[in-house]
Parts: sequence; structure tokens; C-alpha cells
Amino acid sequence: MTLMEYREANSKDDLDRWARTLGVRVHIVDETWDCVYFQADAEYPDGTHLRCRYRYVLPQRLALRRRERTFVVGFSHTVDGATCCHVRPIIVGLSAESEAAAMSQAVIYASALVELQRRPVCGASAANLSPYVITRATNWKP
Ligand SMILES: [Zn+2]
Repeated sequence: MTLMEYREANSKDDLDRWARTLGVRVHIVDETWDCVYFQADAEYPDGTHLRCRYRYVLPQRLALRRRERTFVVGFSHTVDGATCCHVRPIIVGLSAESEAAAMSQAVIYASALVELQRRPVCGASAANLSPYVITRATNWKP
């Protein structure tokens, strides 16, 4: 079993320094309309796993602009006769020309994300996921 040491960085600089010291890279692991999560992972020779994370809270004006471009996409698929659901918020690019284009972009990104995160767990893949809800985050009611 791998032990995990977890550390919350005080700033992005703090995380970058930590990663440089251990010779590892910082990645964006998650983002929402108002936050971006940076993370770096390292391992000691004895197998202890180290993780350092930093949650960057976006400036409010930027966060509100991102929120306007965020769609919530819900998918379902069938696993052993039961329905499995996955809901993901997706921030669409500025390139989307219309509401319909933005929605289809959100569905493509969301299905790829669900496949990446969940395929080993429940077999979700872009091929078997069907969207049951696509809505702007501003209209979303869970
Ligand atoms: Zn699933």
C-alpha cells in the first residue's frame, strides 16, 4: 500500500517551488467556473506518495464571464441493467459561434471527460453515453 502525504500550497508560487524541488511537474487537474485546481505528485524512494495542491480562485469578473460560458451536461448509460449517471460542468471556448454550437462543444468535451475519469470504474465511454440534460450553469437546478 502506498502512503499519501498531502499538502495544501499557500500560493501557486509555493506549489511551483515544491514541484521544482522534487523535480516534478504541475498540472491542472480540475477547474470550475470560479476555481482552477493545480496539483503535483511525487514519490519518495520508499514508495510514499506525495501530493501538493493549490486552489486558485479566479478574479470575480473573470469567474462571472466563465460562468456565462459554463454548461452542465448530464449523461446516462446502462451498467448491468442499472442506469449510471454522470454530470459535468463544462466551460466552452470562445470560438463557439452560437448557442447550438456551444452546446454540442460542451457535450463532446463532457463525454470525453467522463470517459477519461470513469471508464475503468463503470465502463462509461463516449460511445455509450447519452446526454439527458444540457443546460447553462446559470439555469442549472440539481
Ligand atoms: Zn457510469
